[in-house]
Amino acid sequence: MALSKTQILAELVSILPRHCIISDEETQRPYECDGLSVYCEMPLVVVLPESVSQVQSVIRLCHQYGIPLVARGAGTGLCAGAMPHAEGIVLSLAKFNRILEIDPDARTARVQPGVRNLAITEAAEDYDLYYAPDPSSQIACTIGGNIAENSGGVHCLKYGLTIHNILAFDMLTAEGELVTIGHEGLDSPGYDLLSLLIGSEGMLGVVTEITVKLLPKPEKAQVVMAAFDDIEIAGEAVAGVIAAGIIPGGLEMMDSYAIQAAEEYCHAGYPTDAEALLLCEIDGTTEEVQEHVDRVEALFHQLGAITVRTSRNEAERMLLWKGRKSAFPAVGRISPDYYCMDGTIPRSRLAYVLKRMNEMSAHYGLRVANVFHAGDGNLHPLILFDANVPGELEKTEEFGGKILELCVEVGGCITGEHGVGVEKLKQMHAQFSEEELAQFHRVKDAFDSRGILNPGKGIPLLKRCQEYRSIESAK
Ligand SMILES: Cc1cc2nc3c(=O)[nH]c(=O)nc-3n(C[C@H](O)[C@H](O)[C@H](O)COP(=O)(O)OP(=O)(O)OC[C@H]3O[C@@H](n4cnc5c(N)ncnc54)[C@H](O)[C@@H]3O)c2cc1C
Repeated sequence: MALSKTQILAELVSILPRHCIISDEETQRPYECDGLSVYCEMPLVVVLPESVSQVQSVIRLCHQYGIPLVARGAGTGLCAGAMPHAEGIVLSLAKFNRILEIDPDARTARVQPGVRNLAITEAAEDYDLYYAPDPSSQIACTIGGNIAENSGGVHCLKYGLTIHNILAFDMLTAEGELVTIGHEGLDSPGYDLLSLLIGSEGMLGVVTEITVKLLPKPEKAQVVMAAFDDIEIAGEAVAGVIAAGIIPGGLEMMDSYAIQAAEEYCHAGYPTDAEALLLCEIDGTTEEVQEHVDRVEALFHQLGAITVRTSRNEAERMLLWKGRKSAFPAVGRISPDYYCMDGTIPRSRLAYVLKRMNEMSAHYGLRVANVFHAGDGNLHPLILFDANVPGELEKTEEFGGKILELCVEVGGCITGEHGVGVEKLKQMHAQFSEEELAQFHRVKDAFDSRGILNPGKGIPLLKRCQEYRSIESAK
């Protein structure tokens, strides 16, 4: 039996304090989208519970009446994963923002899902420890959202993605049962459900508590900045560094639009006449860092860099990263709108993909600023457009779709770290066969038989697959 909004509110009032429920349109407005604001929808109601048992009651209510439920962290996601369902409830985890325990001996932290990514590192600093995955949004995004998207960041090349840095978490299933997934040891008995659930985009359960791994802070870190007058040569240099057997702490690339925008925004000392910039962080013991910095500097010269400069102190290092980490908002200042794509390719195909993207950019008449985790082949082309120009958004979406298909064509995939959400449903067809998509539906069904958790996202409906394939084959 489907409930009306009034009936849902009456049920919610019986399980939550009134101040935990937002039902008027104006106060709900900030929840209508995530960071990808071209997709938005108003929910029936937003709830902000304060205890796990309250979350459990909300989930049980949704399960009983088949009400769509969308969990939400900070809403910084870039694939419309946290976009509300028009007939559903948004479950904000914002009040679950406590760091419960730091165990310096075990090098772990137990935290609630609404804790900001950066807050974990800040809390661990007293013990000379830190939490490695560092999305550029780390000042705002939550660890619950990071788990749902398997988020990455500058340091994931060496230290792994979210999945490599989580030991265990508590999760409420779609029926409202509280289960613990994973183990504080290195391995756990049974199937590796952590691998299945991390990156499942809020579609298989709601995470309520997490144990993360902490790493000792490296003794020393330096950034080598190399400027190139050709973006393809810079792409080849990325492959060259890794081929030389060096695994940098981070290896990031920016093209000329991004360099100029970031430099204007935060004066990081980037050479604004360069076509491409690589930032290569070397960390470890003082001796290791010295040896690798010397090798990387020599390699960059050998691989065609026009200038190479290395940070001399911590302030310089932080400033070089500040430019990179502010690149998205900085690009926002040189264009009325931008659309951030996210795909992954084999590193060896970087130069080829950049060349093809330049061709596509000319074809569509839309500029592209490239800012990305070059070391792990994770592209973030930012397509610059103006949503007020009729048809430009549609053209941008088509261009973005072609970039993702190019990623698949060269042996990569349509997601790097932002997830599928609503945004990439179409491109799932380019990546997976109908049989594979049917298997994904079976997995979803096994965890959420009523389909209440984040419905309509992540996996395209099979009927749509058939329609899509017949359109594509008719082309
Ligand atoms: C400027 C900018 C830079 C960014 N840089 C990066 C980057 O470098 N790397 C990167 O990986 N991402 C990046 N992102 C994307 C985004 O920050 C990440 O995807 C982040 O993990 C989202 O976290 P959130 O708390 O905002 O989650 P939300 O956007 O609120 O939600 C994301 C997904 O997680 C689900 N979810 C949230 N909490 C829970 C929970 N407790 N249990 C189950 N499901 C849950 C939601 O339903 C949704 O599907 C960037 C975004 C912006 C705006």
